[in-house]
Amino acid sequence: MSEEILTNAPESRANFITHIIDEDLASGKHNNVYTRFPPEPNGYLHIGHAKSICLNFGIAQEYQGKCNLRFDDTNPVKEDVEYVDSIKADVEWLGFKWEGEPRYASDYFDALYGYAIELIKKGLAYVDELSPDEMREYRGTLTEPGKNSPYRDRSVEENLALFEKMKNGEIAEGKACLRAKIDMASPFIVMRDPVIYRVKFAHHHQTGDKWCIYPMYDFTHCISDAIERITHSLCTLEFQDNRRLYDWVLDNISIERPLPHQYEFSRLNLEGTLTSKRKLLKLVTDGIVDGWDDPRMPTISGLRRRGYTPASLREFCRRIGVTKQDNVVEYSALEACIREDLNENAPRAMAVINPVKVVIENFGDKEILKAPNHPNRPELGERELPFTRELYIDEADFREEANKQYKRLVLGKEVRLRNAYVIKAERVEKDASGQITTIYCTYDPETLGKNPADGRKVKGVIHWVSAEENKPAEFRIYNRLFTVPNPGAADDIETVLNPESLVVKHGFVEPSLANAKAEQGYQFEREGYYCLDSKDGSAENLVFNLTVSLKEGFSA
Ligand code: ATP
Ligand code: MG
Repeated sequence: MSEEILTNAPESRANFITHIIDEDLASGKHNNVYTRFPPEPNGYLHIGHAKSICLNFGIAQEYQGKCNLRFDDTNPVKEDVEYVDSIKADVEWLGFKWEGEPRYASDYFDALYGYAIELIKKGLAYVDELSPDEMREYRGTLTEPGKNSPYRDRSVEENLALFEKMKNGEIAEGKACLRAKIDMASPFIVMRDPVIYRVKFAHHHQTGDKWCIYPMYDFTHCISDAIERITHSLCTLEFQDNRRLYDWVLDNISIERPLPHQYEFSRLNLEGTLTSKRKLLKLVTDGIVDGWDDPRMPTISGLRRRGYTPASLREFCRRIGVTKQDNVVEYSALEACIREDLNENAPRAMAVINPVKVVIENFGDKEILKAPNHPNRPELGERELPFTRELYIDEADFREEANKQYKRLVLGKEVRLRNAYVIKAERVEKDASGQITTIYCTYDPETLGKNPADGRKVKGVIHWVSAEENKPAEFRIYNRLFTVPNPGAADDIETVLNPESLVVKHGFVEPSLANAKAEQGYQFEREGYYCLDSKDGSAENLVFNLTVSLKEGFSA
């Protein structure tokens, strides 16, 4: 997807799902719209979830409907309240509000148990005692039908008694499970008598030790939707076949109608990025990154710490749209969204990342200069810039010799210091290794905010920071975490890690940045967009994260 196409995307959020909703409302099938975002609290949310959040909450907003936040918590072993809390914080930060209190699928464990009993009584569910291996063998394959379990035709009474025993903790894990009685020859494997309850002696973060049987996702999800009166249940394409089971369960239990309907859309895949909680968890547990909110992580909390704004992520989700086509979105499409936002909104400031000293020999006292915070937005005000005899400029902005293409400072030539005067490099001082330690210059006092009077042309402009009044700062320059476009396909993630995904530099920023707020983005002129790190940065210890380069394709 090229940036042009994205930039020209229509303003409207219309997509195949809104068309379905429009029809449902027009035909009277539904007279309201109710969606839900159903994360499993087994990891932090990532950019793929942002797509689902914007879709579900966005549709509710657009149709003056409602959207629930529901934790799909049927797998207590992998879940944790830390994840519950982070998910709530991320959804709110993205700018969305769920209806009422957050819900938990575990709120419905009693109801789910009741519906399981109903299925047993209708002869539509049975307790199976095949071992997990046998069950796999009996299931068949994509090309061969499965075969019936020898336990399939137990009486209702026997099933009720065994299910009761499962619930009471009298049956060991893996020794029995409850299965829906559907069709072992179905071409859809999910319909071959899927397991709907299993024994698991696990403490649950919401229900404690009340249960030792837990319902499976497919049984839980549809019933939770129906209990919450969800109208349109939106999920990703891998659940397409599961829709048959979703409908089968709801059709066979006595639950209030009209029933919710499941619609599938394609998941977001982002070039060079992992969008699987399981794989992201491994990066965290293996210590490859500094936690779920490491600024290199594609998690919402990582992007936030990196300096992405909620508006930029919502805009990204709007641009990528919602379809049923599998695709991979270029990483530059995400970067374009934050770059546009920061170009418009971020105050400008000066930071020297690879400092070299400049001494202005014909300059005496300190002067306080003024600079606009934003070139096109006078309402953002001005800041003070101390201009002193000793300054820092970036090493890359000086050469002893250069051709005309190099529009920076060259020995014997002039350059403009941004927001200040024109200076001329007169001579340099080097250390024993030949490294330049000081550039001695003169300045032209008549050039503040105007060109030299005699018509000399000074084309280049470079940034600078006073060497006497500044704040030392650490710069964390981030590059892609992986060296390949599809890291998810790598057998060993260690082999595709970019060793330069984080480069740390130490330099100086102008003194006005002593008041930098965490997550506030700045454009460091000629360097890139940066924000103060929310974890390690403070007024005493300025640590800035590179959010994004100034231009596409520019590598720091
Ligand atoms: P993961 O593979 O990262 O574990 P998941 O689908 O298991 O993802 P859930 O917590 O179950 O994670 O996801 C909550 C919702 O977010 C689901 O409706 C799911 O379909 C959606 N979702 C997850 N990943 C993506 C993605 N990459 N693009 C769009 N939606 C996604
Ligand atoms: Mg899932």
